[in-house]
Amino acid sequence: MKQNKKTTVKVKDLCKNYDDIQASNNLNFEACQGDIIALLGPNGAGKSTLMNMIAGYLAPSSGSIEILGKDIAQFPLFAKENIGFLPEGSPLYADLSVYRFLRYMAELRGLKKDAVIKAAEIANINNVLQQKVETLSKGYQRRVGFAQSILSNPPILLLDEPTDGLDPNQKDYIRGLIRQMAQDKTIIISTHLLEEAEMVCNRIFVLDGGVIKAQGTLKEILNLTSCNNIAEAFRKLTRQEN
Ligand code: ATP
Repeated sequence: MKQNKKTTVKVKDLCKNYDDIQASNNLNFEACQGDIIALLGPNGAGKSTLMNMIAGYLAPSSGSIEILGKDIAQFPLFAKENIGFLPEGSPLYADLSVYRFLRYMAELRGLKKDAVIKAAEIANINNVLQQKVETLSKGYQRRVGFAQSILSNPPILLLDEPTDGLDPNQKDYIRGLIRQMAQDKTIIISTHLLEEAEMVCNRIFVLDGGVIKAQGTLKEILNLTSCNNIAEAFRKLTRQEN
């Protein structure tokens, strides 16, 4: 099924060190159009570090990342133009209204008002457009961040804990959107919600200590670990030695 899908992200021998901490240790993988990849792993496993490097917010210590066939070190603008990124935490410029924030982010990308209207509609935030970002609940801030990430309708979306803080209805809504949008995109999400990875994603990467311990479909991960469910496989792959 994957053969004729376009490779969109290629990560090769990727490493990131912070002094003596190896946050990413020789990561290798390819992602294609249509992929929804879940990055799973305990706190400090290196999920955000990997996303920040693919988004171009963090320089690798070594190794390379290609976006649509172009190395991001050589073509950083091209990479940014083709990636939408929802980082961990709240959106920047919290003292702006939601509309001004999105309009500003759109202008930075050379996009018109229509892009803001469309993204706000998709992220279901029309009722808070005039409210200051900093006065919104955590869930709404997350949705504003999500709207920001899809402004340019990019082919690659990186979503760091996209449903963190959302109520159950909004979780369902965003998960449905992710599935729908993935038909012509590559979407990489990080999550601590194992059921989210199982429900939404067609590939799962389990990281621990900066290393990809296992990658594949849910079925492949369960076969590899001889486990019956993802929670058991996660525990097995990320168990600390006593
Ligand atoms: P979480 O699930 O808690 O969000 P994570 O899997 O996203 O964790 P990272 O935030 O990528 O993990 O962190 C990976 C490792 O790199 C951790 O040991 C962390 O302490 C370290 N680290 C991350 N950022 C820095 C930094 N700026 N300086 C030093 N160490 C850092």
